[in-house]
Amino acid sequence: MRHSMHKADPRTLLISALLLLTMLLFATPNLFAQVAIPDWCRALPRAEYKTLHRIPVADPWFEVYEPAAGVFAIYEPHQAEEVISYLIVGRKRALLFDTGMGISDIKKVTTELTKLPIIVLNSHTHDDHVGGNWEFDTVYGMDTDFTRENALGSSEDAQAEITPDQICGALPNGFAPKSYATRPWKITAKFHDGDRFDLCGRTLEVIATPGHSLMPSH
Ligand SMILES: [Zn+2]
Repeated sequence: MRHSMHKADPRTLLISALLLLTMLLFATPNLFAQVAIPDWCRALPRAEYKTLHRIPVADPWFEVYEPAAGVFAIYEPHQAEEVISYLIVGRKRALLFDTGMGISDIKKVTTELTKLPIIVLNSHTHDDHVGGNWEFDTVYGMDTDFTRENALGSSEDAQAEITPDQICGALPNGFAPKSYATRPWKITAKFHDGDRFDLCGRTLEVIATPGHSLMPSH
């Protein structure tokens, strides 16, 4: 039988070729997965959100849910912070509570949800809550040095948000990673603990709590 080993048996050749191909596939996994998928990304979509009423919007960077009538949760699932900004709509005006990462255009999303004038208020002013502030004319800022300093913008925190382990799926078309920064915004009015915002038919009251905006180092 020994001599038969040297024959070019087509079946032997096929098996050898398949073995070689298999070895190549295992030896070069990077060809097929250039960036490892982060754990937080594998956990998406979040099961908790499936029961919520989802509102279709044009920009695939955002997912919008309406947990209560006239309250829209604008969620950014493609970045590790998984931030949620809230658009709360009254009869005469709406309040946008946080403006997200600034990676895509949150103002455009809000125009799909309401035609009313929008005022912006931030839960606090870390980069992942104020990214779209610059797009709006009326931005209330808490009367703290922390807020005034953050309103100047910065690129360092923003750049750290878009490293490969922070992104799940595709960044928006036209997004320029190298120039991504938290853009400065103008604080058009101050607010304090206890202030009320009357949206007509819905009034929101500010309750300042110790946390990110009062204790910058958190
Ligand atoms: Zn924060």
